[in-house]
Amino acid sequence: MQKGPVAADRASQLNTPGTCVACGLAAQGYVGVHVCHACGVPQPLRPGEDLFASFGLEQRFAIDSGLLERRFYEISRLLHPDRFAAIGGDARRNSTERMTFLNDGYRILKNAEKRREWLLNQLAPAASPSSAPRPPQDLASAWFDLQDDANEAALKDFETRLQITQNQAHERIRTLERELDALLETGSKPGPELLAKMKAELLSGSYLSSLERDVERLKKRLFIT
Ligand SMILES: [Zn+2]
Repeated sequence: MQKGPVAADRASQLNTPGTCVACGLAAQGYVGVHVCHACGVPQPLRPGEDLFASFGLEQRFAIDSGLLERRFYEISRLLHPDRFAAIGGDARRNSTERMTFLNDGYRILKNAEKRREWLLNQLAPAASPSSAPRPPQDLASAWFDLQDDANEAALKDFETRLQITQNQAHERIRTLERELDALLETGSKPGPELLAKMKAELLSGSYLSSLERDVERLKKRLFIT
């Protein structure tokens, strides 16, 4: 049988993001991306789906975590593979794949650090930090002194300074996040400078975290608790 224009239309429709693979109707809202509102069929996972949109959220560094949780459970109920056990085939596989995607997405979005990393990667996949992360000079030299002469008092003092430095770094990251969110709110694309600044802060933050782990190891070695 020859394919008429209607059949061709329908075939292309079925492969179009935003329309149901089973009935071809347009997906409705954030739930419709996962499960068709009309026929209830779970939709295949498409490459590059936006995590925020999957939960009906705008791409922001600060999100409503209560809303995220409610939507996660709402979509999970509709997608549960048990619902499609009797149907089998594509529906069951699609629901399983979507559940995995949803679980991973939920884990990323509910964690501020993971969410920041994901969003930054979306906004600036190729951006490199404006400068290599450099630890505060006094902190770095204090750490070297500590290697030479590690005693409990010096170690405690170092820990306090590290904590203060980390708090200041977190505050700078939060400020940058607010700045970026304000831009996203107006629909503007954040400039490369701001994004590079954020990447540099995150690198510096991971340097401080690894320093924190080094301190813990040193304490263990010296039997300091
Ligand atoms: Zn449908």
